[in-house]
Parts: sequence; structure tokens; C-alpha cells
Amino acid sequence: MALFSSENPHYKYNRKTLKYERIDNTVGYHIRKFLKVAALGIVLGFGTFILLITFIPSPSQKKLAEENDRINSQYQLLTKQLDDALEVMTLIQERDDNFYRVMLQADSIPTALRTGNIKNSTRYDQWDNLRTGTIVKETTQKMDLLNRMLYTQSRSFDELVELSKEHEDRLLHIPAIQPVSNKDLKRTASGYGRRIDPIYKTVRFHKGMDFSAPTGTDIFATADGTITSIGWKQGYGNCIVINHGYDYETLYAHIHKFKEGLRRGSKVSRGDVIASVGNTGKSTGPHLHYEVKYKGVHQNPQNYYFLDLTPEEYDEMIRISSNSSQTFD
Ligand SMILES: [Zn+2]
Repeated sequence: MALFSSENPHYKYNRKTLKYERIDNTVGYHIRKFLKVAALGIVLGFGTFILLITFIPSPSQKKLAEENDRINSQYQLLTKQLDDALEVMTLIQERDDNFYRVMLQADSIPTALRTGNIKNSTRYDQWDNLRTGTIVKETTQKMDLLNRMLYTQSRSFDELVELSKEHEDRLLHIPAIQPVSNKDLKRTASGYGRRIDPIYKTVRFHKGMDFSAPTGTDIFATADGTITSIGWKQGYGNCIVINHGYDYETLYAHIHKFKEGLRRGSKVSRGDVIASVGNTGKSTGPHLHYEVKYKGVHQNPQNYYFLDLTPEEYDEMIRISSNSSQTFD
């Protein structure tokens, strides 16, 4: 209170002089007064400072807010780009499931396995309490989803590469050409099925296909494989059996001569000359009797010339081989 009444002169009673003396013109008084004013100034100043820093942003805070806005808009841009990438990824997945995997007879990959359970995971909740939490959470989820899809897709492609190698190998081991050169089909003699036995003249099931050809004509292995039998077989005469793997086996009978150097266990490739046409065993003329077995069961060989015959030639062969009622055996 004393501070604010300083306009009025201050007096003090002096017992020695018995007078009231003015005291506001002494040095001590002025020092005390100055200290009081300074203290008030400091208190007021500090209060104002607290108010300012509480309610008015500093330049560095302003800068942070600006940065925050820029980060926010960058996140929005990123999430848009991620949407585009996810769209492309989805197309690749569809092509994978509906084309590549179908072609190579692989099961399609369930969506749950491709995308994981990202939407329901709680590990993104840490972003919820941020001012920009939603966009950060969304962007992170999309990035994780894309990663997951890419991982599954690349695993799928690895699997398909393996399958196609196997597929290629399998194709090399399935009988797919005629065992003798038969360009104009003139050598097609007798087909698979019920035929008249050339010697006993009774109806018997013919388990192979006959190709009539001069003695000495080349005989080819019809697929890659290993010779499991080479020599004389009752009825078949000189005979070769090739195991091709994948449950396929072929037999070549009535051979004149075996190719030199071939023995049991020899590896052969499709198109290799393995022997020459002859008339050995139960046979009524020089010809090759050819059989195809799958899982131990005789097959109609004319379904195994697909690398050799056009569809028209195939029809023609069926016509010729079913016309002849008698086999060469
Ligand atoms: Zn035959």
C-alpha cells in the first residue's frame, strides 16, 4: 500500500528535534522504494512471460506445426500411391491364381493367406492417440499389406518355376512320337484292340500297334528313359522294353538287330535309334509291334503320337489302323 501512496510526502517524528521531518528525500528511502518496484516488475514480467508461452506459439512451435502439416500431406500422397500399387498387385494375384497356377495344375492360394489379418491386428493401435494418427495407421497398414502380398506372390512364383521344370521333364518322358518314320502313314498296319490273330485266325486282343516296314528300318525310342529289358522274349522275338518314369513304359518287338552298345540300364532319349525292324518271334512279315503301358496297363499307342501328327494325320491313322482286321502280331 505504501508504494501507491508515494505521491503524498512521507514524514517521521524526530524525538530529538521534536519535529516531523520529511523522509522521502533520503537515500535509504529511495533505495527501498526502488527495490519494491523492481520486485513487482519481476513478478509481473514473469507472469506475462508464462501467459505468452502458454497461449501464443513461439517461432519454433510454429515451425513444428508447419512441418506436421507437410508430413500429413506427404502421408496422404503416400497412401494414394500405395493404393495404386495394391491395385497392380491384385491384378498380378488374379493372373497368378486364374492362369499360371491353373496351367501348371497348382491349387489357387486362399485370399486369407495372401493378405494376412492386417486389418484386425492391434499392433497399429499405438498410432490412435496422435493428431495425425489415422493417416499414419492407414499408410502403415497398407504398406504391410503390400509387403505381405509381395512375399506370398514371390513364393508362388518360386513354386511355379519348380512345377514347370517338373512339367517340362515329364513331357520329355511321355511317349509322344511314332517308333518308326511314318511320314505318309503308309507304314501304319494294324491298331490296338480286337483283331484276328494272323496265325490262329481267331479274334484276340491286340495290345499294341503294328508298323509294317522293310527289315533294317530304324526304330526310335519314343521318349526319354532307361532300357529295362533287351533280348529274346517268347512270342515277341528280339524285344526292347524302356521305362520312362512317371509310370510310362514302352515295348518294341520282332526286332532284327539291337543298336550296338545298348544294354539293360542304358539311358536313351526320344528319337534315338535303338534297333532295326525285323521278323523275329511270332510274326508274319517284317514289322514293328509297339506297346505303351501306363501304370502297368496297356494303352492305345495312337494316343501317344501328339508331337508327330497333325490332327488330320491323327484321324487318317485311326482310319487306316482300324480298317485292317488282321495283325502282323
Ligand atoms: Zn502287333
